[in-house]
Amino acid sequence: MSLRLYNTLTRQSEPFIPLDPACPTMYVCGPTVYDYVHIGNARPYVVFALLAALLRRRHGAVRYARNITDVDDKINAAASAQGVPISAITDRFAAAFREDMAALGVPPPDIEPTATGHIAQIVAMIERLVAGGHAYAADGHVLFAVDSFAGYGKLSRRDPDDMLAGARVEVAPYKRAPGDFVLWKPSTGDLPGWPSPWGQGRPGWHIECSAMAEAHLGETIDIHAGGVDLQFPHHENEIAQSECAHGGRPFARYWLHNGMLNFAGTKMSKSLGNIEKIHDLVRAHPPEALRHALLSAHYRQPLEWSDAVIEQSLRTLDRLYGTLRDLADIDAPALIPPAIEAALDDDLNTPQALAELARIAADARRGGSTDARRRAKSDLLGAGVALGLLQQSPADWFARGVGNGDDLRIQGLIDAREAARQGRDFARADGIRDALAAEGVLLEDTARGVRWKRA
Ligand code: AMP
Ligand code: ZN
Repeated sequence: MSLRLYNTLTRQSEPFIPLDPACPTMYVCGPTVYDYVHIGNARPYVVFALLAALLRRRHGAVRYARNITDVDDKINAAASAQGVPISAITDRFAAAFREDMAALGVPPPDIEPTATGHIAQIVAMIERLVAGGHAYAADGHVLFAVDSFAGYGKLSRRDPDDMLAGARVEVAPYKRAPGDFVLWKPSTGDLPGWPSPWGQGRPGWHIECSAMAEAHLGETIDIHAGGVDLQFPHHENEIAQSECAHGGRPFARYWLHNGMLNFAGTKMSKSLGNIEKIHDLVRAHPPEALRHALLSAHYRQPLEWSDAVIEQSLRTLDRLYGTLRDLADIDAPALIPPAIEAALDDDLNTPQALAELARIAADARRGGSTDARRRAKSDLLGAGVALGLLQQSPADWFARGVGNGDDLRIQGLIDAREAARQGRDFARADGIRDALAAEGVLLEDTARGVRWKRA
């Protein structure tokens, strides 16, 4: 079995050969935490976590970083509208994001860096770019000089005029060229800011990802992924910054982009107002049905979101759980069937994997000897493990169906405690554990992660 991935950089399907076969590296652009995220935002996180799990099976390990953008003008606007510090907004919505991901069966990444936790690395990278002649300071800002990088445009393959139109660039007197983009900007008044060689200020969005990827995964990473809407300018700018800061060495070897989730015919987007928040959806539908719906289209294709798509996934899962219920008398280990692995190896062909799952279930319903039924159950459970589906007992699926809001909240808090521990914020981690204990929820650290039970 060998994994092939479609690489946007080369516009080709390629065999995946990591730099270090013992531990591939992957970076995915994470959310900006100023509000609840919508189901379109979940698409990259569901799909690329599936890829991280696949890499872990193939290579034994993976280093998967997915950041949290916790400094941004939208965050500043939300904080000043509500009269609270930005951390009140970012803490709340980062926790809500983790809760939403847990509900959709997305495990936390190996590393979840925050932009505000990497200001020193960001400033250091900007200093290197200035020293190398790739960036210049003007009016308290630092700008990247696009014409200092011959490779600019190689990912999106746009010509310079298109790039200007696509970026809807801000014309500003301090820019040498209209396409130059901001690495650092001044902060005045109440705006969050940090001291820097260019005065009190805050980073631009693009430089955050370059600095965090370098800090945790090194100069050249295997996979960089995100939505196709980030290809330009965000990813193009990440390449420019990282390659110029690293003496021209390649930044990411494989670029993966998911297609957009559309709602009522257009991209689901907060600015258009046509959104469905995960937070609301998981309280109205079984979260596994939402996950199934997200996996029902190939990740590079557009996905038209609708109640009918959710309904279809619900009916499919009813059938699969019904089959599992019929096999309740049999004990079987979960073993991932080769046909499922082969589908995923083919550029994460989840529609093909779901078709295999349906075929396995149809075989299982045909019955046969105890051995045949055991094999069928192993295959079903194994396919469920690979896809993050069939993770409940049939009794729970049919009894409850809809995500239990309180369980989701508790899982979100447990994930927040894990993130605090990773960030060595033990006071916060202990605080969360004590708060849970006070409501009778006991945590147990096991080799397979944190378990919880009600006292
Ligand atoms: P944002 O917070 O807008 O930067 O988005 C976070 C992630 O969600 C990025 O990888 C985006 O590309 C992705 N994304 C945003 N909107 C959609 C959508 N409608 N469909 C699929 N992915 C999306
Ligand atoms: Zn990014």
